[in-house]
Amino acid sequence: MPAGDLPFGQVACCDQYGELRKGVTAFMILRTIRVGAFETNCYIVGCETSKEAIVIDPGDDVDLIRRQLRAAGLICTIIVNTHGHVDHTAGNKVLAEATGAIIAIGAKDEPSLDDPTRNLSPAFANFAKDKISPPASLLLAEGDTLYAGSVCLEALETPGHTPGSISLLGQGMVFSGDTIFASGGIGRTDFPGGSYDDLMKSIEEKLLVLPDETLVYPGHGPSTTIGRERDRLNR
Ligand SMILES: [Zn+2]
Repeated sequence: MPAGDLPFGQVACCDQYGELRKGVTAFMILRTIRVGAFETNCYIVGCETSKEAIVIDPGDDVDLIRRQLRAAGLICTIIVNTHGHVDHTAGNKVLAEATGAIIAIGAKDEPSLDDPTRNLSPAFANFAKDKISPPASLLLAEGDTLYAGSVCLEALETPGHTPGSISLLGQGMVFSGDTIFASGGIGRTDFPGGSYDDLMKSIEEKLLVLPDETLVYPGHGPSTTIGRERDRLNR
């Protein structure tokens, strides 16, 4: 099993109103799939009971993602992008058409979906020349919550790498996109719309305030914890 994958695990679950029901657990399925030339981490977050799944950042290799969904008996109902760069969104169209899933993204990154200049696809010419995604049907703001059965993920606005970057928090985990990485890595801010000041503010005010044991699943590379990264970022 690749690093970062969890077997069937017992986690706290939310009900449809977002209230954590004390003592109630659900079985969550998590799969990490490294996709595309930039080895983007695509995550499948599924509910063992309802068989619904959220797919985070299907950047490429949709056949592989669909095989993993099938192997786990899951149906993708929501595709969510942590931000609008093409290495995180290039598989949106094929996966959405194949599954009927809706697409969700941070509101300020929505214009990147159908704009090859904003989503950097000309820069990644060999990988995804002029790739565009279908429009999103859900534009996410701070606190918005996505559900796959009993499993829920709450959007945290974490701008900096891009203006509309989000992280997704739930079940003791945070999917941090390209905001932070393992071993003290932080996202690049030299792309259009990037801001170093915003990135550091997002990291300090949205991520490093989470409990030490929170598992961090970044957009590239291995997983880590908030405690480890707080030490490495020396805060
Ligand atoms: Zn990016």
